[in-house]
Amino acid sequence: MIWTAERIRKNYGFDVVGVVKQGAKSIIILCLETSPEKDLDEFIGGNAEYKTWCFSGFKKFFSPKVDEFLEEFEKADPHTVPIASYDDFIKLKKLSVKAGIGIQGRNTLVIDHEFQGRLRFCAVETFLDIEPTGDGIYHHANNRHCDECRFCEIACPVEAVKDYKLIDEEECLAHRQLTNRTPNLTRCNLCWEACTKDRDWAEQKASEKEKIMKEMLP
Ligand code: SF4
Ligand code: SF4
Repeated sequence: MIWTAERIRKNYGFDVVGVVKQGAKSIIILCLETSPEKDLDEFIGGNAEYKTWCFSGFKKFFSPKVDEFLEEFEKADPHTVPIASYDDFIKLKKLSVKAGIGIQGRNTLVIDHEFQGRLRFCAVETFLDIEPTGDGIYHHANNRHCDECRFCEIACPVEAVKDYKLIDEEECLAHRQLTNRTPNLTRCNLCWEACTKDRDWAEQKASEKEKIMKEMLP
């Protein structure tokens, strides 16, 4: 059986699949679109079900598909390793650009033509030789979807979104929540949400700064 990105996408129900070479390894990037019905950004912690912070949306919607794929794929390469934890997330976005899935936007989400900023990523590492989907280069170019926008910058309550740069961990509320691990707070993802909204929404969020800070910080 020949494994290709397109075959994996079709057979296991992912929205996009990309492949990038890392030395002797192939990294298969599995992408699903986040939506209100299938919220991959859902993030909870400190309750009876999830003792520590985690992306519960990933557990609900990504894990069953990834498990189904791995069950079959591991027959071809028993040394396949999933790389899907939070710490790998930034790296996964870079790999996604290398795999030709999209280009990073101002808020660092990978934005593509069809799904804009709504794709989320898991990945597996394998020694099987799978044909890459992109040119393997990290293109750090301005994204044309962002040219007229800036909604993420406007909406961020702490001005942590910098043009096409990784978000300042000291400033960003989401990063501060990760280290703080206080249960049952709303997690900040306004800069991600902004990709699907309009200027009025972004300006309204900017004007609600105090309320947002209260909801998101202990
Ligand atoms: S909100 Fe607008 S400027 Fe920000 S990343 Fe999304 S498309 Fe780009
Ligand atoms: S997660 Fe929130 S605080 Fe962090 S950069 Fe995005 S909008 Fe700003």
